[in-house]
Amino acid sequence: MASEQLIEYEDWRDVKKADWTWPNFSPMEMACRGSGAIRVSVDFMKRLSQIRTHLGQPMHLTSACRTTIHNDHINGAPRSFHICDDDLGRGQRGCLAVDVAATEGYYRGMLFSIAWAQGFSVGWNAKRGFLHLDRRIDVGWRQTTFDY
Ligand SMILES: [Zn+2]
Repeated sequence: MASEQLIEYEDWRDVKKADWTWPNFSPMEMACRGSGAIRVSVDFMKRLSQIRTHLGQPMHLTSACRTTIHNDHINGAPRSFHICDDDLGRGQRGCLAVDVAATEGYYRGMLFSIAWAQGFSVGWNAKRGFLHLDRRIDVGWRQTTFDY
């Protein structure tokens, strides 16, 4: 499958097994927690899987794709990189962000450094217990880090 191709379904249960080649992540955990929709590029999944390979440990996703409605519902940032159903005027094709549970200090440091080295921007809030990883560089934004 070409890397720019989108995995795009109203319901993650309809994702064809042959089109999902990332065994460490499931369509269910990538899908919108509100609507069940999934819209993510093959390129993003490849990059996420590269982090997982380097990390060599499980990555538990607490949020990935979000429809605009669901993002509003959970008070996400209005122009969040999680948004999967709107290009936001910046040419975004599908979800470009995941939140990964990271409560333990060593794990969080490893995940942060690997994701950063792979071009991901990283947001954190230790109290909320996860790292936000996004590919804003894919829409021409500068790589960054931020505190919530
Ligand atoms: Zn996030």
